[in-house]
Amino acid sequence: MKNICLLGATGSIGEQTLDVLRMHQDQFRLVSMTFGKNAEKAIPLIKTFQPKYIAVGDMDTYQKVKQASFSHECQIGIGEEGLIEAAVMEEVDIVVNALLGSVGLIPTLKAIEQKKTIALANKETLVTAGHIVKGHAKQYGVPLLPVDSEHSAIFQALQGEQNKNIERLIITASGGSFRDKTRQELESVTIEDALNHPNWSMGAKITIDSATMMNKGLEVIEAHWLFDIPYEQIDVVLHKESIIHSMVEFHDRSVIAQLGNPDMRVPIQYALTYPDRLPLPETKRLELWEIGSLHFAKADFERFRCLQFAFESGKIGGTMPTVLNAANEEAVAAFLAGHISFLAIEDLIEKALHRHSVIQHPSLADIQEVDKDTRGYVNSILT
Ligand code: MG
Repeated sequence: MKNICLLGATGSIGEQTLDVLRMHQDQFRLVSMTFGKNAEKAIPLIKTFQPKYIAVGDMDTYQKVKQASFSHECQIGIGEEGLIEAAVMEEVDIVVNALLGSVGLIPTLKAIEQKKTIALANKETLVTAGHIVKGHAKQYGVPLLPVDSEHSAIFQALQGEQNKNIERLIITASGGSFRDKTRQELESVTIEDALNHPNWSMGAKITIDSATMMNKGLEVIEAHWLFDIPYEQIDVVLHKESIIHSMVEFHDRSVIAQLGNPDMRVPIQYALTYPDRLPLPETKRLELWEIGSLHFAKADFERFRCLQFAFESGKIGGTMPTVLNAANEEAVAAFLAGHISFLAIEDLIEKALHRHSVIQHPSLADIQEVDKDTRGYVNSILT
């Protein structure tokens, strides 16, 4: 029996994690869970899974949960302190970090200090402070298990392999909602168009990130940290069917790929059962004859500027990826709120990157300061 803490229970990854727990109740127990504001969605989940500890985003939500009647004893916390409390509980074996944005950083570091295994779906945590999270995990001997489908694919392809034999990582990208549009056509796209992803059902922020290709950019940085591979050895290839989830090429030119129908429950479950595997009967079996053919195309930096920003920021290192992430989070929020156009997301990120003087080997305090400063700057130039 593994005891699970789920940070971000009402988001898309959170929901699918609970689905995995529901299918394997004899293997996993939910000890603690957190969510932001969606009490209507969370209360039935609390009743079903009966976690001992719950943390919520704000006072208003706290009151709503407090008023709900549960048949089991549970404590309720609020804000970042609540997230940390949920993650460091003594019984917890695995912390599933399915939070959105860099808010996941501090709870992850605290959980590592308590030697909890981390199943990481929160890519922004590694993008904003990769060297600190990685250093921490090494220091405390804690495994960071990838939940993102691409990184899970690479992780699976690397089982039994040695890092020294890797030639390159090849990350596949569906291209998002606008993969077939020209830059000119992108000028007039709407929020609704952007939220309509062809292959994956995900939250709003990551769906927009897929449309700008920033999601792939963040994944490149995430891969750099997770697998300790230089940016020069990471490539992105467009693959619109999302059947090959990523690949590893070795020095002998042999390439190992991981395939499957797109279903996030597969990589989530693998992170929870690793190094073992369990059946997942609800997911659709891959029949290649049904798919017929798979397509690949070059990921063009001029067409997908966010991908270029991510590679450049990653190579510069230090606080540059922190700026990339913070500017992106604010720009996407502004787009989703209807304040800016789709292409303005890229412009805002580019301005924030140009303005920044990088700090190499930043401390946690430097990162928090740069993150805050970048968010302030992006919001100041919105109008
Ligand atoms: Mg992904």
